[in-house]
Amino acid sequence: MPSKVAIAIGAHPDDIEFYMAGTLLMLKQAGYEIHYMTVANGNCGSVQYNAAMTRSIRHAEARAAAKILGAHFHPSITNDLEIIYSLELLRGLAAVIREVKPAIVLTHSPQDYMEDHMNTSRLAVTAAFTRGMPNFKTVPPRPTADYEVTIYHAMTNGLCDQLRRRIIPGAFVNTTLVHKTQLKALGAHKSQQNWLDVSQGMNSFLLAAENMLLAVGRLSKKFKYAEGWRRHLHYGYCKLEADPLGRALGKNYLVNKTYERTLQRGF
Ligand SMILES: [Zn+2]
Repeated sequence: MPSKVAIAIGAHPDDIEFYMAGTLLMLKQAGYEIHYMTVANGNCGSVQYNAAMTRSIRHAEARAAAKILGAHFHPSITNDLEIIYSLELLRGLAAVIREVKPAIVLTHSPQDYMEDHMNTSRLAVTAAFTRGMPNFKTVPPRPTADYEVTIYHAMTNGLCDQLRRRIIPGAFVNTTLVHKTQLKALGAHKSQQNWLDVSQGMNSFLLAAENMLLAVGRLSKKFKYAEGWRRHLHYGYCKLEADPLGRALGKNYLVNKTYERTLQRGF
């Protein structure tokens, strides 16, 4: 039996709450131990405070959000806009994967509006790939283990990629039951209200999340609020048919037949 452990790996403090926390909460309700990590610390997310102050404020906010979610918190390993696909970050993230031993990894879409998100996705994917490879050294050093892991990629801001093309979810998770808690965790990132107003023209980041979750819910034609996911190709991770989100969430999970029809299998 695979262990009931899941980790959400986001780029910045508040990304998990925007794109992944509903599913994380549903997994917790299904008996999973859940983990929370953002690769970057959020130090650029302010026009009010300097980087050190911003980092410290956002670290506290992220910890508070993880507590609301009931998730184990893992500290960030770099600064905003410094999430480069690098050996240093790969070794750091692989160490976390080896500690946590997740059966499910939730992370960003490989296509997204900013590089930090896309590089987080790439780093998470490769960190999970190395879990059973003793010749790949992590920092700090952590022992390898042989187990199956399934990776799911989240939806994006605007539900499209960086070239404005639509991203269609491969599956939907009903987040209606945990919606209040998800927004409460997002609300813990108080410093971001002002920043997102100034930098990205969001009149309310809570409203932005509400609208996105409603929009994905409408796409599902079934759930009021939903998060969308695309499952990573299984090679190097798990069996072809492995879909632990579906197994864990049952009727609160819906495979998107529209997406399935777009898949072109090699063999
Ligand atoms: Zn972000």
